[in-house]
Amino acid sequence: MTMCVAIIGSGPAGYYTAEALVKSLGDDICIDIIDRLPTPYGLIRAGVAPDHQSIKGVYRRYEKTNLLNNVRFVGNIDVGDAVTIEELRGLYDAVVLAVGAPKDRPLGVPGHELDGVVGSAAFVGWYNAHPDFETLDPNLNIESAAVIGNGNVAVDVARVLAKTPEEMENSDLARHAAEIIHNSSLKHIYMFGRRGPLEAKFTPKELGELGSLSNCVTVVNPDHLPEDIGEADPVIRKNMAHLEAFSKNTPGSKPVTLHIEFYAKPAQVLGQDHVTGLKMEKTYVENGNCMNTGEFFEIDCGLVVPCIGYRTLPIPGVPYDNDGGRFKNENGVIDDGLYCTGWARRGPSGTIGTNRPDAFEVADQIATRMSDTQKPGRSGLDALIKERDLWAVTFRDWKRIEEAETNAAEGDAPRAKFANRDQLLDALK
Ligand code: NAP
Repeated sequence: MTMCVAIIGSGPAGYYTAEALVKSLGDDICIDIIDRLPTPYGLIRAGVAPDHQSIKGVYRRYEKTNLLNNVRFVGNIDVGDAVTIEELRGLYDAVVLAVGAPKDRPLGVPGHELDGVVGSAAFVGWYNAHPDFETLDPNLNIESAAVIGNGNVAVDVARVLAKTPEEMENSDLARHAAEIIHNSSLKHIYMFGRRGPLEAKFTPKELGELGSLSNCVTVVNPDHLPEDIGEADPVIRKNMAHLEAFSKNTPGSKPVTLHIEFYAKPAQVLGQDHVTGLKMEKTYVENGNCMNTGEFFEIDCGLVVPCIGYRTLPIPGVPYDNDGGRFKNENGVIDDGLYCTGWARRGPSGTIGTNRPDAFEVADQIATRMSDTQKPGRSGLDALIKERDLWAVTFRDWKRIEEAETNAAEGDAPRAKFANRDQLLDALK
């Protein structure tokens, strides 16, 4: 009895699920990992910062999964458009939604839809050459930019904005983004947290990198740092040590100043057609909660990048938890034969590795429900692809795209990413 499984989404959540299913069911399983992009690896390719190549190196593990006989990558097939979930549920014994959380949480203050407010999903996608964001073209001919949030995404965005071309030499920063970022006139980058340093979600390694930027000095208001952190856990201790060091820096001592500002939340994005500033409300923290003071201040800025979390895109017919911004599920089970994993299951939290135990749990759920059905699986999908004249990108095709990107790289860059679907597919012609 061979069970056929379709995993929608080829990011870490998708690949760890494939790996877990093969571990648990061996040859009794046949897996198709379907992605709307012609390229695999999801956020590893388009989310992890371009200067964090060692983190991106985890793709080698997914590649091994892809080289197994019973696992297949099917790229360039948009589930929901080219093929529906219902069709896949008819073809496969199990369908796993590993589609991540690609939509920005809205900032939800007056002015948040002004030109120049660019959510982190779009901004990070743009500098990582995600085909959806090639034409974003943010205006960085400005003096100040504001990054909202105190998570690792906010730190990534601030750092990528601040780094020099030399500091990005070993990166795969998109060429279109390098041109704009490295010719920008930015002098001030603000990173606003609505709570305090003890509640911040960034991690010490990422925060620490902000202390060794060649062109940018990172500063913190010492009044925002607690005098005594008591029995704080090691992560907080390390974060505090970095923040203490930043608090001794002098604003303006390098061409760009990164201001980490705690206890401030956006009240309004200012401007007529385009962002010209931010009105912020001062806050304080009570029992861990962010409280308003009714006191406001304003800063000038020409770009606002909210890095405040993500939401999974709802799929018609699939139960959705609107508050959590993810699919309604019970330990990864949505419905008979329909599962979810990764951010689509638990919301946008955790590191890449968090997806692994998650995936093993979902694989267990699938394995225990394995039954002797006669669904066509792979051959059924192939028939649909042929009938609809779709262009499915195989793993071997992807390796050719990868080779072309590697060959196009200059200097120490690992690759020059193709920035749109046509360029990616042209590499196969
Ligand atoms: P995150 O860690 O959840 O941080 C979101 C930040 O946005 C928090 O500081 C949050 O403040 C703030 N926020 C939320 N709503 C807000 C609002 N309406 N106004 C102002 N601030 C608001 O999310 P993330 O940075 O997007 O990261 C997502 C996940 O990916 C995390 O688990 C992260 O660690 C991971 N990641 C890891 C790396 C890495 O390891 N290098 C890099 C990138 C991302 P509150 O805390 O007050 O809610």
